[in-house]
Amino acid sequence: MSSDKPQNHYSPGLSTRSIHHGESFASDTGTVMPPIFPSSTFEHGNPGGFDYTRSGNPNFRILESVLSSIEDCSYATVFGSGVSAITAIASTLKTGDLVLCEENLYGCTIRLFEQIFQRFGLNTAWVDFTDASSLTTITEKKPAMIWLESPTNPLLKILDISKICTVANAQKIPVVVDNTFCTALLQSPLKIGATLSLTSTTKYINGHSDALGGAICTNERKWQDLMTFAQKALGLQPSPFDCWLITRGIKTLPLRLERQVSNAAALADQLAAHPSVKWVRYPFRGDHPQQNVALRQMNAGGAIITANLKGNQNQTFSFCKSLKFFTLAESLGGVESLICHPATMTHASVDATTKAHLGIDESLVRFSIGCEDLSDLSSDLKKALDQL
Ligand SMILES: *Cc1c(COP(=O)(O)O)cnc(C)c1O
Repeated sequence: MSSDKPQNHYSPGLSTRSIHHGESFASDTGTVMPPIFPSSTFEHGNPGGFDYTRSGNPNFRILESVLSSIEDCSYATVFGSGVSAITAIASTLKTGDLVLCEENLYGCTIRLFEQIFQRFGLNTAWVDFTDASSLTTITEKKPAMIWLESPTNPLLKILDISKICTVANAQKIPVVVDNTFCTALLQSPLKIGATLSLTSTTKYINGHSDALGGAICTNERKWQDLMTFAQKALGLQPSPFDCWLITRGIKTLPLRLERQVSNAAALADQLAAHPSVKWVRYPFRGDHPQQNVALRQMNAGGAIITANLKGNQNQTFSFCKSLKFFTLAESLGGVESLICHPATMTHASVDATTKAHLGIDESLVRFSIGCEDLSDLSSDLKKALDQL
């Protein structure tokens, strides 16, 4: 893989890098937190090289410097949402190009390809990348791009990113990895061959469910130029205020994730041991079908747990509603625990056959584990499960 990353001799730890961003662009004031720069335009010839916020802003640049630092890569570009980041990458393709996608991609990614970009002549093919034959498909179909996500939503399937990238890189096919469920702290797609690492910063990176954002990291100058071009040409830029919030959020990302992951690992075991639970899916558990890949690829098992309960739709819904510390809501990655019923929420618009194929049924629930005390989450879950 080509890389123009300069070699650093000393690199501080991840927590330090999450807290110490680069420039504040306000050196006269000694401010500890950077200000918010809401200005839409900038005087020509300023030292920062800013001209108009659609194509760059001090708050974007501060956030980009922290993101590239924690991802340990050369470049990051920020966007108004995860979907804006996806749009930026898709916009680099042209009529007749084929994108070979993991069949379990995030729903809005699928919608964007099938309902928007298909009308502009972009083709998509969907494969199960845990199936060994998918590697042959890469060679046969020669796609213009490969789009992966691991773990997948909501069944937490783990794809062997390194193996797929080895085949793709040999044929110079760029690989995109949606790394939202892990962030750079738990998984480093660029280090194992991916061209672009995409994150919805709305989730773990910001972590407080109060801003939307997206980011794309890369080591390749060519891709960085394409991303900054898409940011301004398509109007995909975030707001300075949201960037400021997300920059603040990142400071506690390592701390939050540490708590969220340890809570999740314990709760996954608790769920699996309860008689009202049919099965549990958590990447680092011994009963996960791709546990070996997860152990090799991820620094920890993450903070999402999926479980199938012994109950019909009504009972599953009552279970969700009876929890005190888990709000029934979409999204994930915040400090607060959430529970989601994919069949009627995130995947409500998916047809029944596809849902069945993906393994999403009425008894399936997905937990996003937060930073609360484990004892409270644990007793809350136990009470609700006992009543099921
Ligand atoms: C939420 C999410 C997105 C989209 O991000 P938004 O910030 O909501 O636009 C993309 N991919 C994954 C895996 C997500 O969870």
